[in-house]
Amino acid sequence: MNSTRRITSTAAIAASVLLAGGLAGCSGGGDGGEGGGDGGGLKDSYTVVTDTAFVPFEFQEEEGGDYVGFDIDIVYGIAERVGFEIEHENTNFDGIIPGLQTGTFDIAIAGMTITDERKEAVDFTSPYYKSGLRIGVAEDDDSITSIDDLEGKTIATRLGSTSADYIENNIEGATANTYEQLDQAYLAVEGGGADAVLYDAPNVEYYILTAGEGKLKTVGELIEAQDYGIAVAQGNEELVTAMNEALAEMIDDGTYSEIFEKWFGEEPEWLEELAASQES
Ligand code: GLN
Repeated sequence: MNSTRRITSTAAIAASVLLAGGLAGCSGGGDGGEGGGDGGGLKDSYTVVTDTAFVPFEFQEEEGGDYVGFDIDIVYGIAERVGFEIEHENTNFDGIIPGLQTGTFDIAIAGMTITDERKEAVDFTSPYYKSGLRIGVAEDDDSITSIDDLEGKTIATRLGSTSADYIENNIEGATANTYEQLDQAYLAVEGGGADAVLYDAPNVEYYILTAGEGKLKTVGELIEAQDYGIAVAQGNEELVTAMNEALAEMIDDGTYSEIFEKWFGEEPEWLEELAASQES
């Protein structure tokens, strides 16, 4: 399931998330939108679940508890265009797919990587973000400089994530220490309980620029090209199609780039590739 393709490092993200941190108080997204419309079999309101540990894609503001982040702005842009209200829910990452399957949640946007295995359990929209994995090690560690140095090592990551799969399937002799709470994975490396952390590049980079500043650093290249998609329970084709149309429109009319810039401080370098991967 996991390709071992490596993709080029996007060093600019590291600098740009700094800016995103400064803008974290902003919320809302989209610019107008058609509004209204009963949307045929579509509902007026959907439960949208996120994973607020996955910064800067989603988090809750300390004051007031508002949901903010890149994913939140994207899903509001989509909701405006499709014409539905959002009811927020939050859960641990590994609770998202079961929650969609049992109908507890209607829509999940949580930096979720589209994989063949997950496609057997839920349906995804077209890709909305192009990602990859990154290694984080203790700031004073000079022994690990690339993925090859992780062989036989203890690597902290998150339960149910594509990084956990990657470690298991691609890094020889490595032990994956999987945590339900994402910050525990980072703290494990800081405390010496693990040699490295492997997780989604934008999240590792954001952590290092915020809570992990001076404690962790990234090493090596970006590993494994991944696409994030919005997930729904299987059998909701009309909703998926409507969301895909809205997403394609947001990419075409510049709304997507605006939101991206707000959170990552620059235009996505893969915008054309993303636009080409839209189905609508
Ligand atoms: N993109 C990763 C995955 O899908 C992690 C997402 C997350 O922790 N929210 O496994």
